[in-house]
Amino acid sequence: MTLSSTERKIIENSIRDIKDFPKQGIVFKDITTLLGDKEAFGVTMNHFYQRYKEYNLDYIAGIDARGFIFGAALAQMLGIGFVPIRKKGKLPYTTISEKYSLEYGMDEIEVHIDAFSAIPNAKVLLMDDLIATGGTARAAAKLINQAGASCLEACFIIGLNFLDGQKNLKEITNVYSLIEVN
Ligand code: AMP
Repeated sequence: MTLSSTERKIIENSIRDIKDFPKQGIVFKDITTLLGDKEAFGVTMNHFYQRYKEYNLDYIAGIDARGFIFGAALAQMLGIGFVPIRKKGKLPYTTISEKYSLEYGMDEIEVHIDAFSAIPNAKVLLMDDLIATGGTARAAAKLINQAGASCLEACFIIGLNFLDGQKNLKEITNVYSLIEVN
Protein backbone atom coordinates (compact mmCIF):
# COMPACT_ATOMS: atom_id res chain seq x y z
CA MET A 1 0.00 0.00 0.00
CA THR A 2 1.57 3.27 -1.12
CA LEU A 3 0.92 6.80 0.10
CA SER A 4 -1.05 8.96 -2.34
CA SER A 5 0.62 12.23 -3.31
CA THR A 6 -2.06 14.12 -1.35
CA GLU A 7 -1.36 12.05 1.77
CA ARG A 8 2.38 12.53 1.32
CA LYS A 9 1.92 16.31 1.11
CA ILE A 10 -0.27 16.37 4.22
CA ILE A 11 2.45 14.55 6.18
CA GLU A 12 5.40 16.49 4.72
CA ASN A 13 3.69 19.85 5.32
CA SER A 14 3.02 18.96 8.95
CA ILE A 15 6.68 18.33 9.84
CA ARG A 16 8.58 21.43 10.97
CA ASP A 17 12.27 21.93 10.20
CA ILE A 18 14.28 23.56 12.99
CA LYS A 19 17.70 24.68 11.79
CA ASP A 20 20.74 24.31 14.04
CA PHE A 21 18.95 22.27 16.76
CA PRO A 22 20.29 20.78 19.00
CA LYS A 23 23.54 22.04 17.51
CA GLN A 24 24.96 23.95 14.56
CA GLY A 25 24.53 22.24 11.19
CA ILE A 26 21.69 19.87 12.18
CA VAL A 27 18.21 20.32 10.68
CA PHE A 28 15.95 18.88 13.35
CA LYS A 29 12.75 17.29 12.04
CA ASP A 30 10.10 18.33 14.57
CA ILE A 31 7.17 15.89 14.57
CA THR A 32 5.25 17.64 17.39
CA THR A 33 3.52 19.64 14.64
CA LEU A 34 2.49 16.38 12.92
CA LEU A 35 1.07 15.07 16.22
CA GLY A 36 -0.92 18.25 16.75
CA ASP A 37 -2.42 18.10 13.25
CA LYS A 38 -5.31 15.62 13.46
CA GLU A 39 -5.37 15.04 9.71
CA ALA A 40 -1.62 14.41 9.40
CA PHE A 41 -1.52 12.23 12.53
CA GLY A 42 -4.54 10.29 11.26
CA VAL A 43 -3.09 9.76 7.76
CA THR A 44 0.22 8.62 9.28
CA MET A 45 -1.30 6.14 11.72
CA ASN A 46 -3.81 4.81 9.21
CA HIS A 47 -1.03 4.16 6.71
CA PHE A 48 0.99 2.18 9.25
CA TYR A 49 -2.15 0.30 10.31
CA GLN A 50 -2.96 -0.69 6.72
CA ARG A 51 0.63 -1.81 6.14
CA TYR A 52 1.01 -3.89 9.30
CA LYS A 53 -2.46 -5.33 9.92
CA GLU A 54 -1.61 -8.49 7.91
CA TYR A 55 1.82 -9.02 9.50
CA ASN A 56 0.46 -11.00 12.48
CA LEU A 57 2.67 -9.02 14.83
CA ASP A 58 2.82 -9.80 18.54
CA TYR A 59 4.35 -6.53 19.80
CA ILE A 60 5.41 -3.07 18.77
CA ALA A 61 8.69 -1.95 20.38
CA GLY A 62 9.11 1.83 20.47
CA ILE A 63 12.35 3.76 20.92
CA ASP A 64 12.63 6.40 23.69
CA ALA A 65 10.92 8.86 23.42
CA ARG A 66 9.13 9.76 20.19
CA GLY A 67 8.89 6.10 19.17
CA PHE A 68 6.65 5.63 22.23
CA ILE A 69 3.99 7.95 20.84
CA PHE A 70 3.63 6.36 17.41
CA GLY A 71 4.39 2.85 18.64
CA ALA A 72 1.80 2.84 21.43
CA ALA A 73 -0.86 4.31 19.13
CA LEU A 74 -0.19 1.64 16.49
CA ALA A 75 -0.14 -1.18 19.06
CA GLN A 76 -3.63 -0.13 20.17
CA MET A 77 -4.90 0.01 16.59
CA LEU A 78 -3.51 -3.47 15.91
CA GLY A 79 -4.75 -4.86 19.23
CA ILE A 80 -1.28 -5.96 20.40
CA GLY A 81 1.15 -5.10 23.22
CA PHE A 82 3.71 -2.30 23.36
CA VAL A 83 7.27 -2.54 24.71
CA PRO A 84 9.38 0.54 25.50
CA ILE A 85 13.09 0.51 24.64
CA ARG A 86 14.58 3.14 26.94
CA LYS A 87 17.70 5.14 27.54
CA LYS A 88 19.92 3.57 30.20
CA GLY A 89 18.78 3.78 33.83
CA LYS A 90 15.07 4.40 33.26
CA LEU A 91 13.59 0.88 33.38
CA PRO A 92 12.93 -0.43 36.91
CA TYR A 93 13.17 -4.23 36.46
CA THR A 94 16.11 -6.40 35.25
CA THR A 95 17.25 -5.27 31.81
CA ILE A 96 19.49 -6.24 28.95
CA SER A 97 21.35 -3.40 27.30
CA GLU A 98 23.19 -2.51 24.13
CA LYS A 99 25.79 0.20 23.58
CA TYR A 100 26.04 2.12 20.32
CA SER A 101 28.19 4.93 19.03
CA LEU A 102 27.06 8.48 18.50
CA GLU A 103 28.85 11.18 16.53
CA TYR A 104 30.78 11.92 19.74
CA GLY A 105 30.99 9.10 22.29
CA MET A 106 28.62 6.29 23.16
CA ASP A 107 25.06 5.80 24.32
CA GLU A 108 23.17 2.81 25.71
CA ILE A 109 19.59 1.58 25.50
CA GLU A 110 17.79 -1.10 27.47
CA VAL A 111 14.76 -3.36 27.46
CA HIS A 112 13.25 -5.43 30.25
CA ILE A 113 14.61 -8.97 30.07
CA ASP A 114 11.09 -10.48 30.12
CA ALA A 115 9.40 -7.88 27.88
CA PHE A 116 8.48 -10.38 25.13
CA SER A 117 8.45 -13.58 27.16
CA ALA A 118 4.63 -13.99 27.34
CA ILE A 119 4.65 -14.99 23.65
CA PRO A 120 7.31 -17.53 22.51
CA ASN A 121 9.30 -16.32 19.46
CA ALA A 122 7.27 -13.10 19.43
CA LYS A 123 7.16 -11.20 16.14
CA VAL A 124 8.08 -7.59 16.79
CA LEU A 125 7.90 -4.36 14.80
CA LEU A 126 10.39 -1.70 15.89
CA MET A 127 9.23 1.91 15.62
CA ASP A 128 10.76 5.38 15.88
CA ASP A 129 10.05 8.80 14.41
CA LEU A 130 13.26 9.13 12.38
CA ILE A 131 16.31 7.18 11.25
CA ALA A 132 19.55 9.14 10.83
CA THR A 133 22.77 7.10 11.24
CA GLY A 134 20.70 4.08 12.28
CA GLY A 135 22.84 3.44 15.37
CA THR A 136 19.93 3.63 17.79
CA ALA A 137 17.62 1.41 15.72
CA ARG A 138 20.39 -1.13 15.12
CA ALA A 139 21.02 -1.44 18.84
CA ALA A 140 17.26 -1.69 19.47
CA ALA A 141 16.79 -4.45 16.88
CA LYS A 142 19.66 -6.40 18.46
CA LEU A 143 18.05 -6.03 21.90
CA ILE A 144 14.72 -7.39 20.63
CA ASN A 145 16.47 -10.45 19.23
CA GLN A 146 18.57 -10.91 22.40
CA ALA A 147 15.38 -10.79 24.47
CA GLY A 148 14.20 -13.94 22.65
CA ALA A 149 11.88 -12.25 20.15
CA SER A 150 12.28 -11.59 16.46
CA CYS A 151 12.51 -8.09 14.96
CA LEU A 152 10.62 -8.47 11.65
CA GLU A 153 10.93 -4.87 10.52
CA ALA A 154 11.88 -1.39 11.70
CA CYS A 155 9.67 1.52 10.64
CA PHE A 156 10.01 5.27 10.78
CA ILE A 157 8.04 8.33 9.78
CA ILE A 158 11.17 9.93 8.30
CA GLY A 159 14.26 8.36 6.73
CA LEU A 160 17.26 10.65 6.21
CA ASN A 161 18.65 9.42 2.92
CA PHE A 162 21.91 11.34 2.99
CA LEU A 163 23.16 9.08 5.77
CA ASP A 164 23.73 5.33 5.46
CA GLY A 165 21.45 4.45 8.37
CA GLN A 166 18.80 2.60 6.41
CA LYS A 167 21.37 0.67 4.40
CA ASN A 168 23.21 -0.40 7.57
CA LEU A 169 20.04 -1.38 9.40
CA LYS A 170 18.94 -3.53 6.45
CA GLU A 171 21.82 -5.89 7.32
CA ILE A 172 19.86 -7.02 10.37
CA THR A 173 16.17 -6.32 9.68
CA ASN A 174 13.73 -4.98 7.07
CA VAL A 175 13.41 -1.20 7.00
CA TYR A 176 10.43 0.96 6.06
CA SER A 177 10.28 4.77 6.09
CA LEU A 178 7.06 6.61 5.33
CA ILE A 179 8.83 9.60 3.80
CA GLU A 180 12.41 10.01 2.67
CA VAL A 181 14.42 13.21 3.09
CA ASN A 182 17.31 13.79 0.72
P1 AMP B 1 20.36 7.68 14.72
O1 AMP B 1 20.73 6.69 15.79
O2 AMP B 1 21.52 8.50 14.24
O3 AMP B 1 19.61 7.03 13.58
O4 AMP B 1 19.40 8.76 15.41
C1 AMP B 1 18.08 8.47 15.57
C2 AMP B 1 17.49 9.10 16.82
O5 AMP B 1 17.88 10.46 16.97
C3 AMP B 1 15.98 9.09 16.69
O6 AMP B 1 15.42 8.72 17.95
C4 AMP B 1 15.61 10.48 16.27
O7 AMP B 1 14.45 10.88 16.92
C5 AMP B 1 16.81 11.36 16.66
N1 AMP B 1 17.28 12.22 15.55
C6 AMP B 1 18.47 12.13 14.90
N2 AMP B 1 18.60 13.07 13.95
C7 AMP B 1 17.46 13.81 13.99
C8 AMP B 1 16.96 14.93 13.24
N3 AMP B 1 17.67 15.50 12.25
N4 AMP B 1 15.73 15.39 13.54
C9 AMP B 1 14.99 14.82 14.53
N5 AMP B 1 15.40 13.78 15.27
C10 AMP B 1 16.62 13.27 15.02
